[in-house]
Amino acid sequence: MSQESLSELQRLDTEIQRLNHRRINLEQRSTLEAALLEQTEHQVQIDAVGAARVEVATRQRRHEDEAQIVATKVETDVARLYSGEVQGVKELEALQHEIASLGERQTGFEDQAIEAMEEAEELASRITSLEAARADVDNRIGILETEITVTETEIDVEMERAAVGRTAAAAETTVELVAEYESLRPGFGSATVVRFDGSNCSGCPSVMPAMEVDRMKREASDSILNCQECGRIVLR
Ligand SMILES: [Zn+2]
Repeated sequence: MSQESLSELQRLDTEIQRLNHRRINLEQRSTLEAALLEQTEHQVQIDAVGAARVEVATRQRRHEDEAQIVATKVETDVARLYSGEVQGVKELEALQHEIASLGERQTGFEDQAIEAMEEAEELASRITSLEAARADVDNRIGILETEITVTETEIDVEMERAAVGRTAAAAETTVELVAEYESLRPGFGSATVVRFDGSNCSGCPSVMPAMEVDRMKREASDSILNCQECGRIVLR
């Protein structure tokens, strides 16, 4: 009974180790990490373009205001020109000249405002496409997180089953044997408990000396021994 239980204990420990390794190294986890990085990069870009758009919009309003101020001045000058207040030819000429140059300035400000508006539109459309890309990443992240949770739950169920089996297997062998096995396992891993194949310890890389083979053979078939060459637990 102990022989089988010890083998089973080792098999389940190896299984638990494999499940742990699988849980930690889930492929979706590295994909998720990459997606989260991508999400951050998108957000940084969205914020940067958003800030540029605010700056451009402020510029557009400033040029519109400047154009408005000049337009008001032109209106006042035009009103003065036709009011009859200004009589002298030179003064009239000067006023006309000022109206013409103000008109040029107004056009200049209006052109700058339009330029800024076009720039703002371009930035807005960039934000739209960046947001669409980020929504795509958000979606992928959601799917990955669900997949990870589902897989983790599956692994946990298997792990729990293996742990229950391990407890049962340990209960069927002796405390001393379990303790010995556990103290050797860090060094030998999944080959701590090995078989005697009739002429050799199956864990040994070297050939078993004839005397040791004899000793093994003389033991009862359900014996649990230690290989004198490697120290592993050998099931006779
Ligand atoms: Zn050995």
